[in-house]
Amino acid sequence: MRPTPFAYHRAQSVDEALALLRAAEAVPLAGGQALLKDLRARVREVRSVVDIARIAELQLIEGNGGELATGAAVSLSAALAHPAVARHAALHQALQRVGDTQVRNRASVAGNLFGGGTSDLAVVLLAGRARVRVRDTAGESVLDAASALGAILHGWPRGSLITSVHWPLPLASHYIKLSRRTVDPAMAACCACRFADGTLTLAFGSVHTAIVDASALCPRTAADAGAFEHTIDALAASLAPPDSAHAGPDYRRRMLAVLGRRALDAIDAWPPA
Ligand SMILES: Cc1cc2nc3c(=O)[nH]c(=O)nc-3n(C[C@H](O)[C@H](O)[C@H](O)COP(=O)(O)OP(=O)(O)OC[C@H]3O[C@@H](n4cnc5c(N)ncnc54)[C@H](O)[C@@H]3O)c2cc1C
Repeated sequence: MRPTPFAYHRAQSVDEALALLRAAEAVPLAGGQALLKDLRARVREVRSVVDIARIAELQLIEGNGGELATGAAVSLSAALAHPAVARHAALHQALQRVGDTQVRNRASVAGNLFGGGTSDLAVVLLAGRARVRVRDTAGESVLDAASALGAILHGWPRGSLITSVHWPLPLASHYIKLSRRTVDPAMAACCACRFADGTLTLAFGSVHTAIVDASALCPRTAADAGAFEHTIDALAASLAPPDSAHAGPDYRRRMLAVLGRRALDAIDAWPPA
């Protein structure tokens, strides 16, 4: 199907993009892997788009000390190829698991976060305690991962642009994605991180309408470990997993304990002392 007609603007700078977003009541277009599909299917209609894919300020990748910064419009392929990104194991693993090479060549870091409960990078964003830098015509703000994902889920504010994502480097991290074929969306996904201050974090994707933060359930003692399956199953029972031909809600619920234990095992936090 053809999309309903819309105006196309290409911005050369963040300032120009913000002015266009405001003046034209437009939405940002990055790699187009989700937006153009939705427009073609007419599940979404827009009056105009502002192409931000060629803005140089949004293409930076920097590794400074304990943090990695990725520009919003960096393609997933460019991120994967950058040596600084390899220092964040879970992010690197998640990037490898998004679609296929063609998708990764176009899809951007920020655009992927708009994939709701099934975005691979959003799972790492939440478990990895990353922050999202946002600009609008009023100025700049920094959102923690939960606030950014909440804003995306409940309707990203018109005229706001993610400019970069900041990933603190965990001491150890691991991302696991269960999918039928490599290019398929996740049936369930999990990320665990261990930070230098001893904090353990755990998040799940594709098991609910939103990415689920299960960090509070990370076992800290051998007794917690014995109860892990029970507590994680109780969490799973409260979720509303999506249904698909290859993974129904019950299967996805059961995968929480399996993937959670495997991810914690991989970062050497299992069994707890
Ligand atoms: C064949 C195929 C397979 C796929 N497999 C996977 C998969 O395995 N895992 C997975 O996670 N995803 C998968 N996807 C989804 C794909 O990864 C996302 O659609 C893509 O990452 C979106 O990024 P984009 O740059 O193309 O965003 P776009 O399509 O350009 O935009 C998506 C949304 O984000 C908004 N947006 C983009 N950038 C910004 C910004 N800087 N600030 C504010 N808003 C912004 C847009 O306005 C739009 O609403 C797949 C898609 C396809 C087509």
